[in-house]
Amino acid sequence: MSAVAHPLLEELTPLGSRRKLEVVDRSYGVDLARAERAVTDLLAALGQDPSSEQLADTPRRVAASYAELLTPAPFTPTAFPNDEGYDELILAKAIPFASLCQHHLLPFVGVAHVGYLPADRILGLSKLARMVERFARRLQLQERLTTQAADWLQTQLEPKGLGVVLEAEHLCMSLRGVQASGARTVTSTLHGRLRTDPRSRQEFLALTGTAT
Ligand code: ZN
Repeated sequence: MSAVAHPLLEELTPLGSRRKLEVVDRSYGVDLARAERAVTDLLAALGQDPSSEQLADTPRRVAASYAELLTPAPFTPTAFPNDEGYDELILAKAIPFASLCQHHLLPFVGVAHVGYLPADRILGLSKLARMVERFARRLQLQERLTTQAADWLQTQLEPKGLGVVLEAEHLCMSLRGVQASGARTVTSTLHGRLRTDPRSRQEFLALTGTAT
């Protein structure tokens, strides 16, 4: 049994009419010095000369790059009561993101479309982008990133429906293996009315440009 099975623990803290949604990280912690040493070893193992002048600063740069890609910015999203009773689709389209494939430690890069049909709570649009970044900055699979974003929204907002669509190019596919340059992988998770109501679903997919 582990107390930190999941790197992200979210809890709801009601604050008057607003809700502050706390996001607490427990397992992030990059050991930069150790990462630098490992990159030096990796260079040597790859037949490179880490002591050469050209590579002198490479271990430090690589370690810093991975640290950045694995460390999301602090994030305290605030949900607001839906006082106006807004019940149309709220959609943040083409949110750019970059994540790291857990199989190859190579980036996959693309856009996320995140939408929901609000019930009692709404979230600022910029927060949707921050939320995607939060889940992207860790070793990931695109499928998991999609469901984590959807599950998070579901838990925090309990909307009438929600959809998350991710389109990304995986460098591990473009640069090696099948070398399908430019091929984009599309993943989606739909909940509630966006899943069950054909009209809402079609509207969402049309707006995201991913309707078939
Ligand atoms: Zn990969």
